Amino acid sequence: MAKLTVSDLDVKGKKVLIRVDFNVPIKAGVIGNDNRIVAALPTIKYVTENGGKAILFSHLGRVKKEEDKKELSLRPVAEHLADLIKKPVTFVPVTRGPQLEEAIGKMNDGDILLVENTRFEDLDGKKESGNDPELGKYWASLGDLYVNDAFGTAHRSHASNVGIASNMKQAAAGFLLEKEIKFLGNAVDNPVHPFVAILGGAKVSDKIGVIDHLLSKADKVIIGGGMTYTFYAAKGMKIGNSLVEKDKIELAKSIIEKAGDKLVLPVDSVVAEKFANDVPSKVVDGEIPDGYMALDIGPKSVELFENVLKDAKTVVWNGPMGVFEMSNYAKGTLEVGKFLGTLKDATTIVGGGDSTAAVQQLGVADKLTHISTGGGASLEYLEGKTLPGIAAVSDK
Ligand code: AMP
Repeated sequence: MAKLTVSDLDVKGKKVLIRVDFNVPIKAGVIGNDNRIVAALPTIKYVTENGGKAILFSHLGRVKKEEDKKELSLRPVAEHLADLIKKPVTFVPVTRGPQLEEAIGKMNDGDILLVENTRFEDLDGKKESGNDPELGKYWASLGDLYVNDAFGTAHRSHASNVGIASNMKQAAAGFLLEKEIKFLGNAVDNPVHPFVAILGGAKVSDKIGVIDHLLSKADKVIIGGGMTYTFYAAKGMKIGNSLVEKDKIELAKSIIEKAGDKLVLPVDSVVAEKFANDVPSKVVDGEIPDGYMALDIGPKSVELFENVLKDAKTVVWNGPMGVFEMSNYAKGTLEVGKFLGTLKDATTIVGGGDSTAAVQQLGVADKLTHISTGGGASLEYLEGKTLPGIAAVSDK
């Protein structure tokens, strides 16, 4: 069933508690990458432009000891948000008590307030991360309406998402969360066929849940990246010094058997003698020679994958095809990304984490339909798990 979204709410004059994901890299008070703040703007603007009072909650990093608080304050985010949205943002340096309550009491319609890092509450018994019932109830008491727009933490049951939601009459999704549900959720639950999944990255063990679930949903599952060579080993092929998870070889064998021709493995690789960019590399077909390690897929694999992908109507991609961080091994990931960008009638979705970094770094992100903002949350979504942060949002 469709979820209630922020545009279904009458926010005028209301105190709207919004859980955003402002978990951005900050060094010495300077924000490194503000993608997540930018991604939250549509929801914040919608609320304020329609006369609501936007009260924002977010976590930032992990707060384990008192000294962490200095580095993990959201104050720089409040300043940056004010610049982006061209409006003052009141920052409240606490997560509860009279100072917060008075600041909320003084808000006018259309105002924005940011509460300090919700994980400051973790110092005293993991109240935020452990979804302490008293904390969720208290935060809920500060507002009239609740909107969750933090996809990045949707796979966690915390006080600021599930806790607040369960203490409000209704909980709505923000525009960002709505988009993730629409693209990532629909791709897996109601894909337009042919549906092709591309799974890469380092380890089979990280992706096993995703491989399993997508094999039951997709028409083809393409494997690339370091995990290829655990599959090669399972087929009895030589893998040289390539990345391998020995304890996952049996599992890879059973996947190969179960999947039949649904599973598409690379047929050639770019290999080198060392895990480095400044050493000679070459392309080999099939098995990896002794003394070499495979660091990218080769051109024949790219061609094979393009053939599988050319008629796809839905594509979900998680994990790079090689060590894209080094220029000599970025080509496979780049070529696959570029090809996805040429698919006219297909919905192309990148499932977060390293794959998001890869498509952004390689400059192909803007040609794709949807780039997920969540790492762990995307993976769990692709595994077919129920995400508590989304489950806590009311149905329409
Ligand atoms: P993941 O977080 O599982 O998506 O893995 C991403 C990482 O896998 C990236 O840092 C890549 O450099 C790495 N990776 C991709 N292909 C290979 C490979 N053939 N050998 C070693 N590492 C790889």
